[in-house]
This record gives sequence, structure tokens and C-alpha cells, in this order.
Amino acid sequence: MNFEKSFENFVQILSEEEVTSEITPSALADISKEYALRSIVAVVSFAKGADEEGEPDTVISLFGPVPEGEAPAYYFKNEMAGKRIVTYNIYLLGDKRWTEEEYKSFSVIIDILSFHLERYLLNGIVKESTFIQYLTRLPNAGGFLAFAGRLFEEERIQDYNSFYFNLKSFGLVSRRFGITEGDEIMKRYAKKLREFCEQDEIVAHLGGDNFTALIKKDRTNDFLELLSGIEVYGIKNDKEEPITISAVAGVYSVDDSLKEPGQLISRAGMACSYAKNVANKPYVFVNKAMSTKIYRQKQIEERYEEALNNDEFRIYLQPKVDTVTGEIVGAEALARWFCNGIVLYPTEFVPILEQEGLVATLDLYVLKKACEYIRSWQDKGIPIVPVSVNFSRRDLGYKHLAKEIAQIIDDYGIDRKFIQIEVTETASEDERGLMTTFLKKLKDMDISTAIDDFGTGFSSLSTLRDFPVKVIKIDRSFISNDNLNKNDEIVLKNIVAMARELGIDVVTEGVERTEQTDFLKEVGCHVVQGFLYDNPMPMDDFEKRLEKKYYEN
Ligand code: C2E
Ligand code: CA
Ligand code: CA
Repeated sequence: MNFEKSFENFVQILSEEEVTSEITPSALADISKEYALRSIVAVVSFAKGADEEGEPDTVISLFGPVPEGEAPAYYFKNEMAGKRIVTYNIYLLGDKRWTEEEYKSFSVIIDILSFHLERYLLNGIVKESTFIQYLTRLPNAGGFLAFAGRLFEEERIQDYNSFYFNLKSFGLVSRRFGITEGDEIMKRYAKKLREFCEQDEIVAHLGGDNFTALIKKDRTNDFLELLSGIEVYGIKNDKEEPITISAVAGVYSVDDSLKEPGQLISRAGMACSYAKNVANKPYVFVNKAMSTKIYRQKQIEERYEEALNNDEFRIYLQPKVDTVTGEIVGAEALARWFCNGIVLYPTEFVPILEQEGLVATLDLYVLKKACEYIRSWQDKGIPIVPVSVNFSRRDLGYKHLAKEIAQIIDDYGIDRKFIQIEVTETASEDERGLMTTFLKKLKDMDISTAIDDFGTGFSSLSTLRDFPVKVIKIDRSFISNDNLNKNDEIVLKNIVAMARELGIDVVTEGVERTEQTDFLKEVGCHVVQGFLYDNPMPMDDFEKRLEKKYYEN
């Protein structure tokens, strides 16, 4: 057999099989003859830092027996991923020595062996990593589920509470101490968690700053207490600094509704995101209402675009009425989502769409519908009233929004005075800038604007002074007290008077009782919107109201 042939065999066997120490002997069988090989032993060691203990070396026999206490004839060193160094010790038959040629050509064989050995070792790591988180050495999701699976089968799982927790501002810790020290801090944190666990409990590291745990029910409070703040330290400029790491947790108290171990993570995880994003509490236990709420949130996000295209959104109109004459003087367009047989209200979906940056598409859709309605009244000869459309503060970041609004109105061939844009009063300085620009642009294009929920923002007085608006809508909280008192009266009276002097109209929303309209008349505010006259209603019903135009007083 010639050398080429044996080399080919060697490469082929290795490339076809997952390399293990079992197959290298056959791959090396032919070559061994060319090189008078007796044994090849690979010693895998970790490159160690000064103070590291490192892990023990791994000895892998690739060919032949492992000679005891005998110096190899030759050795080759190779670096591998993950700070590993492999030394190949070569033992030859008898006292055979290679020529320089042979030595050089064998180094090629070592390179190939190395490549395969690396794959073999990586496989080992991958196998291990199905159960162990590489950084903290805590179990990972796989390890957690295997553990939970056993408890589940032994019907002991209901003795436990399942936790999902997320570290508060660990990002800040990493930024302060750097990524390497951040990893060390994480390891110290994990160690404390591990120390808490009893034999038949588990804390697992899912990755990043997310963890799960199964803790006996009677130790729940202790564990929550632990999670509220674990003391560790970080090293910066050779000095130890104390750090307290607290977590936000979701807790699922395992009951007989558990169908499979995966739900231990998903349910507690859901509670965790609820604790963090909705409740703003250090921990929350899973409950039914929460799961429906989160389920709906997901649905809303996922279905929104399709729903918009399917016309699942309808526009309801609520009249604005002059309480003195009973005349309908305008309407507000409010979105309703008819979703799988239930009606969703904007309080449910608008905040989610805002969060996802989707609300602008809804607002523009509502605007188009409002224009469409006005256009049809115009075409049918029905008296037209202005319709106001809500725009979210989240929309204000869009540079061309004002232009786009004007364009849409013009496209429907209606007078710009029939559309009014409502935006809510804002608190933050940044937004105030954007808001002023937006309102000013609209004003310059003869589109009127209203400040919604007036009186609930931070600085209503400067709102009146700075914002070029046509209308303020007084928030219903001003008139919702059962007994409207003297203070309400004074505040309202003065707002109305001030607004009048500034040439701003006042509308009061949420009017439900006649004594409220009486009170409002007294302070000089005539235009109201509220259930006392009508709820928001579909277009057909609103059109009937419009044809009559007046409510009987
Ligand atoms: P808003 O702009 O303050 O709208 C008035 C809300 O008060 C409406 O709730 C309306 O149904 C309700 N309402 C009307 N009269 C009364 C009353 O007499 N008593 C009480 N208790 N409530 C009354 P809705 O339709 O659920 O809308 C809630 C909020 O959602 C709106 O508050 C508005 O901020 C927002 N929204 C509605 N549609 C849209 C939209 O198309 N785009 C955006 N961005 N937001 C919208
Ligand atoms: Ca509004
Ligand atoms: Ca309002």
C-alpha cells in the first residue's frame, strides 16, 4: 500500500464518522505502518491563568495502548478553541526514528487529527451544555426540565413552587465592572443561590440574567427574601466593592393544572414579566386574571396588522353637545376592535400598540375613516359637524405626520375645518418641544387641535400659554366628584375664563348627570361630551342623530 492510499483512508474514515477514540485506530491503521507508530496519546489541558486551578488534563488514546512512564519519541502541540491545548505524544515501534521529511509530513496528519479531535471535544461540550449553563455551572433549562420531569413522574411536583426571576439592572453592573468581572460577579451570585438550595431543590440559569428555580412550598418566603437582595462583590481597580443584586420574580404555586414541566417555566415567566412590566412589584404569584391579560396582550400584538386589513376596527362617534341649545356641535371618533366576537376597547389595545410603535397606523386609519364619513355626509347633504381624531403622543416623533394628516384630509375632498386633532397633555420636556412643533404645523395648515385630558398633565398653565390650540378638553376627573365642591368650581371657573381670554374653546368630557351640566353652565362651559347625551355609537346611529341635529333639553 502506498502512502497516498493510506492517507486517503485516514482522511476518509475520520470525515465519515464522528471522531471518537474508537475510530481513530482504524483510521490510523495504514498510516501507522508508514510511520512505525506504536501509540498516539492526546493530552488535553486548559491554558491556566496565574491563580487558576483549572481542570485536570484529559488523556485520550488515539492509537495503541497508553505507555506508562515512558518518554514519547516525538510530540506536537496544538491550540484549540476554549483555551485548550492538546499535546500529541507519539511513541514508535522499537527505537525507530523519523527522517525530517517524515516528521514534517506527520505534522499534517496531526493537523487533521486535531481538527477531528476538536469536533469530538466540542460534541462533549454540547452534550454537557444540554444540562449545564457554561458560565455559572448551574443547571440550564435542560437540566431544570430533567429535574422537574423526575419530580413530575414521582408525583412530588405539587410540593414545590416554581420561580422565574430576572436580575434588576445587571446591565449597570456589567457596565461598571466590565464584562469579564461582570461574569465573575454572576458566578458569585449563582454560588449564593446554589448554597440556598436543599438536596431536592434546584436553581437553574437560563442564560443572560434569567433564572428559574423549584423550591419547596414551605421555603418560599425564605427564597423570596433571598432574591430581594443578595450581597456579592465586584473587583474594580484591585478593590472589592460590595454589590447587592435583587431580582424580580414570578411564582407559580404548582397545582394539578400542570400538564407538563415546560409550564413551570412559562407560567412563572409570565408572572415575572407581569411583576416587572405591569405590577411593578418585586414578585407576583400566577393568577388567572393575569394569564388572560397577558394572553390578550400577545394576541393584540400578533393580530393587529391582519385586523387592520380585515376592517376589524370600527369607528364609533360620540357627539359633543351645546348644553344651552341642545345642538350637536361635533363628534369624537373612538376606535373599537371587533376581535373574534368580542369588542376590545382602546384602553386595552392602544397602550400595547403604543409600546410596539404601531399606534400611528391606527390613528391614521381612524382619520381616514372620519374623512370618509364626512365626505359621505357632504355627498348626502346631511349637515356636517367637525370630527375630532385622537393622535397618540407616541406619533409625535414622525416628522411628516402633520403633512400626512393634511394630505389625507385633502384627498377626501373635504374642508380641513371639519377635522380636529386631539392630543393629550404631556409631562416631559422633550415631548413638549415635539408637541409644540406638531401643533404649530397643524395650525399653519388650518387644521384645528385640542388638548385632551386637560388638567391631568403637569403644567396645564404653561400648556394654555404655549400651545397653539383651538380647544381644551377638561378631563372628567374635574366633574366626577359626587359632590362638586367650591374648589372645583373656582378652578374650573378660572380655567374657563382664562381660556376664553386666550380665545380657546372649552369642552368638558365624561358628563353623566344633569347636575354636572348645571354646574358647568354656571362656570361658563357649554359644550360637553358624555353618556348623559350619548355613548359613542356606530356611524349609522350617529347619522340619525345628525339628521335631527338637536337633543331635546
Ligand atoms: P378620550 O380621548 O378621553 O376619550 C373619551 C373616553 O371616555 C372614551 O373611552 C369614551 O367612551 C369615554 N366616555 C365618554 N363619555 C363618558 C362618560 O360620560 N363617562 C365615562 N366614564 N366615560 C365616558 P374610550 O372610547 O374607551 O377611549 C379611551 C381612550 O382611548 C380615549 O380617551 C383616547 O385617549 C384613547 N383612544 C380612543 N380611540 C383612539 C384612537 O383612535 N387613537 C388613539 N391614539 N387613542 C384612542
Ligand atoms: Ca380624546
Ligand atoms: Ca379625554
